[in-house]
Amino acid sequence: MSKINTVEDYSTLLECPYDASHRILESRFQTHLIKCKKHYKGEKKETCPFNSTHIINKSELEHHLKTCVDRKNFERSIQAPEPISHPPPEFKPLPDGEDWDVDVRAYNPAQYATNTPVLRSLQGASKSVRKQFRNDERKRLLALKSNGPE
Ligand SMILES: [Zn+2]
Ligand SMILES: [Zn+2]
Repeated sequence: MSKINTVEDYSTLLECPYDASHRILESRFQTHLIKCKKHYKGEKKETCPFNSTHIINKSELEHHLKTCVDRKNFERSIQAPEPISHPPPEFKPLPDGEDWDVDVRAYNPAQYATNTPVLRSLQGASKSVRKQFRNDERKRLLALKSNGPE
């Protein structure tokens, strides 16, 4: 006794494209097609390019190709967007005259000295100005010292 005629099993039976009276289990369909094709004497059949189990009369193939349910899957698989690969940044040589050796970090000598506890010298200033400057410098250094970490 075979239990093949349950609803679930029946749904997996496929109709043979070579002989409509053949009902073949889906798992054995490919094997059956190969065997059945050898004995087939009817109209020439073509295999659907989207699904090898679609054996179509040559005269119906064109129509089938337009309506094949596997065509969408097939097209989706070949048109799936490829993962976008980021190419390495393009190397752009600098135009003539550009100097790679220039240190682009802004260097501000005045600001550097203001934040550094060194006595600045004042060249070419008058005596009173120099004295005033020294007093200011002392204050600045004291301020730096008191604010700085011990
Ligand atoms: Zn068959
Ligand atoms: Zn098909």
